[in-house]
Amino acid sequence: MLGDSPPVSGDESVKPEDTIPAAITDIGCEREINEDRYAVIDSPAGRAWIVCDGMGGSLGGELAAQLAIDAIRRALESRDFDNGEDALRFAIEEANRVIVLRRQNPAFSSMGTTVLGALVQGDEVVITHAGDSRAYLIRDGEIQQLTVDHTYVQELVDRGAIDAEEALSHPQSHVLTRCLGSEPRLDLDAQSFWIWDVAEGEPEDKLLLCSDGLYSLVSDKEIADIVSSVSPQESCVRLVELAKSRGGFDNITLAVLPLGGQLHEEIAEGAKKPVPKRKSERPRVSRARKGPKLTPGVKIALMLILLLMGVLLAGLFVVFSLTN
Ligand code: CA
Repeated sequence: MLGDSPPVSGDESVKPEDTIPAAITDIGCEREINEDRYAVIDSPAGRAWIVCDGMGGSLGGELAAQLAIDAIRRALESRDFDNGEDALRFAIEEANRVIVLRRQNPAFSSMGTTVLGALVQGDEVVITHAGDSRAYLIRDGEIQQLTVDHTYVQELVDRGAIDAEEALSHPQSHVLTRCLGSEPRLDLDAQSFWIWDVAEGEPEDKLLLCSDGLYSLVSDKEIADIVSSVSPQESCVRLVELAKSRGGFDNITLAVLPLGGQLHEEIAEGAKKPVPKRKSERPRVSRARKGPKLTPGVKIALMLILLLMGVLLAGLFVVFSLTN
């Protein structure tokens, strides 16, 4: 269980414990190992919350999730980035590269992991994922799923072949169409959001990140009710208990992040982007070329031809002068 120091809130109706983010991971009731991992990473790009749900049997799933967390941490801490999306994409692609390489070992040839990352920098929140770990937005008892699962059954839902309820109990509900480790080229979904200030008394949003061990046993409505009524820390404990009371057949991981405002897809008027976009803000100078671009080799050849012509002209001039 993880807590954090509370952000400053001007709303006195908000209790201090409501503003402290929390996360939890639990092995559940049936599994022998916990293949889920979560991490909170402070880096120059912001604070990243990562949830990974590993798979691959034996020690593979556990290793894949841990390799992903470690690689993401290393990548985010390694250098500055122009913006949050670039940072998360780079870090997760690095993690994919590490797991693809490790899969060359036959003992780990089927391992992989989902990844879900939320990077918070100032008022900007970037959410990136591959797989079926989910991000939800919770506002005053209402809940909205922000991510779309990369699963075979989600494709069936999208085509209208089954509905979301049937997808949860479908025999192939666990089949992922994207995850870390399966392909050298990773296709990531990324979305950017902005936290807007709210007037006193207006509800503030919470972001919930979780593995499928939670949402396959606890309904969206139940998640919304609990997260809206108690602190993030208490929400983590109650939601894990609820999933376990219904069998807890999978590992359960979740993080609850109070946002101190409301999440929007557009930047608030007058708000400043938190990360300087050094390269993209630099004015692009279009350089109109007046002729074909010359390579260094061609330039040298032209200079030699000009020199030769000069020598020839000088020689001709000398011969002409002598013969006259
Ligand atoms: Ca799982």
